[in-house]
Amino acid sequence: MTVYLDCNATTPLEPRVQSVIQRYMEEEYGNAASPVHQYGEGARMAVETGRTQVARVVGARRDEVIFTSGATEANNLAVLGLADYGLATGRRHLVTTALEHKSVLEPMEYLASRGFSLTILPADSSGRVSAQNAAAALRPDTLLVSVMQVNNETGIRQPVEEIATVLEGHDAFFHVDAAQGFGKELVSLQHPRIDMISASAHKIFGPKGVGALIARRRGGSFPPLQPLQFGGGQEQGLRPGTLAVPLIAGFGTAASMAVRHEQQRHSACEAFRRQVFAGLQGLTYHINGDPQYCLPHTLNISLPGVPTMEAVRVVKEHIAISSGSACTAHTAEPSHVLHAMGLSEKRVATAVRLAWCHLTPPVDWPSVVQQWKQVMNKGE
Ligand code: PMP
Repeated sequence: MTVYLDCNATTPLEPRVQSVIQRYMEEEYGNAASPVHQYGEGARMAVETGRTQVARVVGARRDEVIFTSGATEANNLAVLGLADYGLATGRRHLVTTALEHKSVLEPMEYLASRGFSLTILPADSSGRVSAQNAAAALRPDTLLVSVMQVNNETGIRQPVEEIATVLEGHDAFFHVDAAQGFGKELVSLQHPRIDMISASAHKIFGPKGVGALIARRRGGSFPPLQPLQFGGGQEQGLRPGTLAVPLIAGFGTAASMAVRHEQQRHSACEAFRRQVFAGLQGLTYHINGDPQYCLPHTLNISLPGVPTMEAVRVVKEHIAISSGSACTAHTAEPSHVLHAMGLSEKRVATAVRLAWCHLTPPVDWPSVVQQWKQVMNKGE
């Protein structure tokens, strides 16, 4: 059987999460906005329990969680939702990094096309941006700084705590796209200077289609967000629409399991990583990103002379992997992340990402290595 090694794209569902979702699909199918009978009341309680469970992951308060359809929407809300405030106060400078997901970069670029100015922090070959560069980019009119917690392609942690510290003397709002680290790397998101955090359920063994923007109070005030859509007034008017109760209940369960089992999952991923390195012995490859900053469930490597899609294809019977960047069935768009790290064209064009989790079964590494060696030899 092909072993799934694409856990940064999405994770498998935890069986307990699945049974919670099923319960709110089949039995407790009320609308959380109709708590006038037991069906609606049950739904409302499920949503509030989920909210508490998600808030706890980052030490936030329950009323600071705004449920969304995922991290893409949360990122859009964090960036675009501040635009009116920026325009009204004359703060039109935005800071982000070259490593961000498109759901941060594109709303930023959109605002830049509408008169905001944008500074994009560079990355180094280790796969990180620096807090010094973030500090140097700050201006009196900086509205927002957005830096991801963990990169989706490389698994590299960014210095979000250092950047939070740099921002202590500045008014700029600080947003962290935590799609890849929420529930996996718990400490950095506790920093109280982080104003907004984006999270996604389907990266922590929960369902697809739900996530959250956690918008914390600072000095007693919430970030001055404006909604991107209008309608029912749910989620403090910031994200109107009937709440996806089964998905929120599943997200909450996944979030509380992530906290409870964090150590255990971390150790399981480290053990699997040791097997990966042992399994790949004898193969020539380059690691992309500095392993000392990498979470233990991701490995981005380049296989000299083997184009990404070829490398993915030849091991398909054994492992399911991807390039980690946007791709179609036959071609991989060159990764903007690896480019930003200054890697050569060849290195970028031959990169693959392996990402596992605590549920990943063993891999037949000798067969994987044999397939890769075969195509490498053909290329010589
Ligand atoms: N940000 C990062 C870093 C991601 O890895 C992803 C998912 N690939 C997203 C945002 C988007 O998350 P979602 O799928 O929940 O919209």
